[in-house]
Amino acid sequence: MEKISKVQNCSFGKCLVADVSINTATIVQKIEGEVFKWENISSSEICHAILINDDKWIIINTDARYINHSCDPNCSINENLEVVSLRPIQAGEQLTISYNIVHKGENPGTWDPRWSFKCLCGANNCLGFIDKYINEDGNIWTPPLGELQKIYIPKEINEKID
Ligand SMILES: [Zn+2]
Repeated sequence: MEKISKVQNCSFGKCLVADVSINTATIVQKIEGEVFKWENISSSEICHAILINDDKWIIINTDARYINHSCDPNCSINENLEVVSLRPIQAGEQLTISYNIVHKGENPGTWDPRWSFKCLCGANNCLGFIDKYINEDGNIWTPPLGELQKIYIPKEINEKID
């Protein structure tokens, strides 16, 4: 794959930026890494974990690890675990995805409070504080009809319960 993005230092840590001009629907990165069950993910890696299905989480080890959140993202992750551009992106522009948008029919389970953060994306539709999943229409996400919400309990809390 041609390298069209690069990791840079941004005002708040590392970020991924376009190295060239990118057209809509271009694969800009791949989500790859080791697969873990939720309870085996360390706190330091929790922010780089992405749910693929039924308590299988990938800890991203490609440059995609450094994609920041935006409430108006220019990329999204497709079902082949590729990061794809949603619109034309200029060289030097930061690549972003939404960390909390749930697509139709998905059930990402419980939101881990360790993921919550104050958003500084600057988009017109910025939610300000990212602390829950939302639907594509911006409403608060609830499980698909007839499905229960999957519950993932952070390891630290789980150990206290024991
Ligand atoms: Zn925002």
